[in-house]
Amino acid sequence: MRVHHLNCGSMRPVGGKLLDGEPGLLRRSELVAHCLLIETGDSLVLVDTGFGTQGVARPGEWLGRPFLAMVGAKPAAAETAVAQIKALGLDPADVRHIVMTHLDVDHAGGLADFPNAVVHVRAEEHRGATSPANAAEKNRYRAAQFAHRPLWSTYDELGEPWFGFESVRSLKGLPEEILLVPLTGHTRGHTGVAVDTGEGWLLHAGDAYFFHGQLDPIAPHCPPGLTAFQNIVQTLRGPRLENLARLHELARDHQDEVRVFSAHSPVELAALRR
Ligand SMILES: [Zn+2]
Repeated sequence: MRVHHLNCGSMRPVGGKLLDGEPGLLRRSELVAHCLLIETGDSLVLVDTGFGTQGVARPGEWLGRPFLAMVGAKPAAAETAVAQIKALGLDPADVRHIVMTHLDVDHAGGLADFPNAVVHVRAEEHRGATSPANAAEKNRYRAAQFAHRPLWSTYDELGEPWFGFESVRSLKGLPEEILLVPLTGHTRGHTGVAVDTGEGWLLHAGDAYFFHGQLDPIAPHCPPGLTAFQNIVQTLRGPRLENLARLHELARDHQDEVRVFSAHSPVELAALRR
């Protein structure tokens, strides 16, 4: 399987506030929306979708003004998944499956660009986004992003082991090499997506953490602004911190077998593109 690493949405937090405390270069750097495009042989699979074309055409309406202001989102046509798939010489109509880490606006914004794709998501996340339990959930998800009625394929946990985590294997219609690895916390149905590339595993950890330094094997660290941000946007604190600790262990103890990365780290994206 061939895997492409895409940035489908750049963000520049106002004044670099989220990244304060880091040396100059990192303080100025952007956050990205790291998505995967997987060529499976007979079709294309996306992992997360970024802001989408409507996020570029009508950002306030599609992504929400509070979100745009908070993270300094800069939707750009060239960064949409559709544009990048075309630039690779591939056809966006061949995207038959989309696997979602969760349904926040910066991940689900591009779903409507692939109306014929089956959208794989944890059942708990689907419930959170389509029947929000409280004001926080109502505000974080954008009903407009699901108005085209995606072809949902939802999963409750099946608990098959994967490096000490539980995983959901056998996603309908997808190769066995792509699994869900539930990482509850950031949202109630948040999940990682593991991909066996044939040359080792990738684990797209979504928003289970934001900053590459959080997985530093010896001295985990995170700028205070970005720590505060993760606290503000979390749904379930206990499970989030537990899963972060488990990811830290996984990245440290299995670094030869699994590459773990977050949805938003430009440093990890650059390293994986090399
Ligand atoms: Zn996110």
